[in-house]
Amino acid sequence: MNILVLIKQVPDTNEVRIDPVTKTLIREGVPSIINPDDKNALEEAIRIREKVGGKVTVISMGPTQAEVALREALAMGADEAYLLTDRAFAGADTYATAKALSKAIEKFQYDIVFCGRQAIDGDTAQVGPQIAEQLDIPQVTYVRKVEIEGDKLIVERALEDGYEIIEVKTPVLLTAIKELNVPRYPSIKGIFNAYNKKEVKILTADDLEVDKNELGLKGSPTKVVATSTPNTERAGEIFTGNIKEAVQNLVERLNSRHVI
Ligand SMILES: Cc1cc2nc3c(=O)[nH]c(=O)nc-3n(C[C@H](O)[C@H](O)[C@H](O)COP(=O)(O)OP(=O)(O)OC[C@H]3O[C@@H](n4cnc5c(N)ncnc54)[C@H](O)[C@@H]3O)c2cc1C
Repeated sequence: MNILVLIKQVPDTNEVRIDPVTKTLIREGVPSIINPDDKNALEEAIRIREKVGGKVTVISMGPTQAEVALREALAMGADEAYLLTDRAFAGADTYATAKALSKAIEKFQYDIVFCGRQAIDGDTAQVGPQIAEQLDIPQVTYVRKVEIEGDKLIVERALEDGYEIIEVKTPVLLTAIKELNVPRYPSIKGIFNAYNKKEVKILTADDLEVDKNELGLKGSPTKVVATSTPNTERAGEIFTGNIKEAVQNLVERLNSRHVI
């Protein structure tokens, strides 16, 4: 099985804080990590390769520093790594991101394209499904279990209150959720190989068969026109009166705010 895993380097949003005075995000010192769902996708791809053979190739689109994420993926056990990096990719919305990534994917032989369900910074969960559309292949999202039977996959897809079992033939695009597995730590040998024996190959817009007007900001149907931080100040409210009245008022208030 040839498996392409799409990994995005993201700021660790658990570490992002809001400055109480300026009300802006404090970005300084926030570490960049492999998007968590993408690590689950990578782990599963490596497990599949360990079972049935084949190759795991990781691909990322981003600035040059995204190479660090690809080296970590190589250290975990990916065979090859490619970084799509070019000014022409900058400012992409999900449509233009999916366009660039699917044009890159077309250059490879693959059975499975594995994405994370969602990136913790953009948070849209749109890139995977859009790539499947661009490539005109089937997709299964919210994957929590995968079994391989020849060129067929038996996949469990998580729903809010249960799961579906889906049978699908390769080539297919899957998006992983954290319930799929526990990603491994890179081994010392893996880290050594990732930095000394393996390379991160660069792809630019010129390497893809695509009109540059379809990439980056130019190729994006949407534009972020403003961003703001949410108001984190919350006034407490005390419900007085006898217990019955206070509880009733509380329930009404929660109801009116669609909390319950
Ligand atoms: C309306 C809008 C406008 C935007 N405008 C800009 C902008 O002007 N400038 C800017 O820098 N960003 C912009 N972004 C952010 C950028 O488009 C997104 O970060 C990017 O499209 C990926 O979307 P996402 O983070 O929601 O990923 P999701 O769709 O949540 O990601 C799902 C999965 O797709 C894969 N994936 C996603 N992105 C990549 C990647 N880059 N490389 C490899 N795999 C990937 C991963 O497997 C990931 O788990 C914009 C986003 C939106 C929604």
